[in-house]
Amino acid sequence: MLSYTHKQKGGALQRKPQPRPALKSRQIRGEDERSLGRSLGNRSVGRMMAQRMPLAPRIQRDPPPAPDPCPDGVRQIDIFAVNLPGSTRTIYDDQTKTNAVLAQCCARINITGGESWDTNLMDTDAPHGVLNHSTATATTEVQDMTAHRPGGNVLHAYYVPSISIGSRGSSFYASRYGGAFPSTANAIQVANSAADDTMVHELVHVLLDDGGHHADPDNLMASGGTRNVGVDNMDAAQCAGI
Ligand SMILES: [Zn+2]
Repeated sequence: MLSYTHKQKGGALQRKPQPRPALKSRQIRGEDERSLGRSLGNRSVGRMMAQRMPLAPRIQRDPPPAPDPCPDGVRQIDIFAVNLPGSTRTIYDDQTKTNAVLAQCCARINITGGESWDTNLMDTDAPHGVLNHSTATATTEVQDMTAHRPGGNVLHAYYVPSISIGSRGSSFYASRYGGAFPSTANAIQVANSAADDTMVHELVHVLLDDGGHHADPDNLMASGGTRNVGVDNMDAAQCAGI
């Protein structure tokens, strides 16, 4: 039917060659019409597809940029590391984990430097070669160690081979030992046996000036005996306090 119609039109136009542009025009229109027909067909198919498919993929847009999680900036906590003889762990082993945990509170550590300290202070009291530490009082070894501050007036992290009471780490802050510990000597000690989150746990004790432990084992400040290492949540109060 369609081809017949076209022949008819073509024949009529051949008799009058003058309106050749019109022929072209009509041919073009014919093409256009056929294209339009195909196009309409495609649209019809598209409509049918649309009825079967969820609309979401068709109207999907680029997601809006995520809001800045730290609109007030990221707080940097300067820290200087000292390695005592026999220590095998370094602050660089703890840096990534520490910063990942502190990111919950828009904070991070900034390592200002480090020292490998050739000292025999761990031979002051028996047992030798371990850091003698007490929960009741600052031992001579702890006092001597924390008085050594080659990094100046920043928090110092001391890496020791082991701690006499068997802990993975400990911390020293103003309110410790009944407020007897000098706040200028705020410090952390980390043993070779430390877990990935020991350093940041001890660091937060110092920043909060609080040796208390959280009841939730998923919290960073749960005690070492109950804490789910690797979860290390921090709550709003902890973030506000550091
Ligand atoms: Zn603790």
